Amino acid sequence: MDDFSVSLRDVWRAKKRIAGIINQTPLIYSEPLSQCTEANIYLKLEQSHPTGAFKLRGAANKILSLEEEAQQKGVTTFSTGNHGIAVAYVAAELGIPCTVCISNRVPAAKVNRLKKLKAVVEKVGSSQDDAADRCRQLEKEKGMTVIKPFDDKEVIAGQGTIGLEIIEQCPDIDEVIIPLSGGGLLSGIAFVMKSIDPSTRITGVTMKKSSVMLESLGHGRPVRLEEEDTLADSLLGGIGLDNHYTFSLTKKYMDEGVRVEEKVIENGLLFLMEHHKMIVEGAAAIGVGHALVHKGQLQKNTAIIVTGNNIDHEVITGLLRQS
Ligand SMILES: *Cc1c(COP(=O)(O)O)cnc(C)c1O
Repeated sequence: MDDFSVSLRDVWRAKKRIAGIINQTPLIYSEPLSQCTEANIYLKLEQSHPTGAFKLRGAANKILSLEEEAQQKGVTTFSTGNHGIAVAYVAAELGIPCTVCISNRVPAAKVNRLKKLKAVVEKVGSSQDDAADRCRQLEKEKGMTVIKPFDDKEVIAGQGTIGLEIIEQCPDIDEVIIPLSGGGLLSGIAFVMKSIDPSTRITGVTMKKSSVMLESLGHGRPVRLEEEDTLADSLLGGIGLDNHYTFSLTKKYMDEGVRVEEKVIENGLLFLMEHHKMIVEGAAAIGVGHALVHKGQLQKNTAIIVTGNNIDHEVITGLLRQS
């Protein structure tokens, strides 16, 4: 694994660095899912962070790794929500300036949370790429550091701490099902799991609409796709045409990439509500939805990453009315 600039040592460093901000999240055995799938299914509850999503890990590790002077000039980010919230949260904790640039597609609940965290919020364009351009401008003009949502060594190492926790909490895990967008989450966890045991199966799951990473892997290089509305809105966004890390890491460590229909995501959400009394967002339920339609095909001890809970109330009521 020497062609990869992130090492296990970097992930252990991340674990120590973020310990003051991040608490270990629970890994729970799911009786109802285990019964439905004929495997032992564990849920890694990443929605239990104070920001409601795992992105706090990568953001905390990146910002804490910056020099004091860079921290004081402030941080900026482009994001479909959870990463922006994480960056704003860490900046507020450290008392440093933060500007978040977001596209017009970001749901209202997420915008309000950013404002509560005292971040300056700038709305630009209709895609993550437009927001990214504005960030780079702030970097040039004000010397702020752009905190990327996934394609960054320290961010990947931060997300990789989930892998360390899984191994500690249940050393028997032999498959991990991971929601996939930019691939920072998958790269970090997969790198750790495969370093510890190369036979661990890594499955990435994304929505059929705009699955940019899988489309890119199919073309052998990063491509751009038009964004379409989906229940898994946190999985929207490009992977960057000049992707440095996550494209090659995902290619190297993911055993299978799966695209699922909206209905599968919806069923995952409803299952977690009904059987675990748990409300999460579409992106976070996609792994559960996938498991439900793969009865008998999962490894013996499978962990599913439940990634976040930032869902609009209207979406929940809409779903419950239909079901
Ligand atoms: C960001 C995010 C993902 C995907 O993570 P990537 O590192 O971009 O692949 C999944 N679920 C939620 C809730 C997210 O916020």
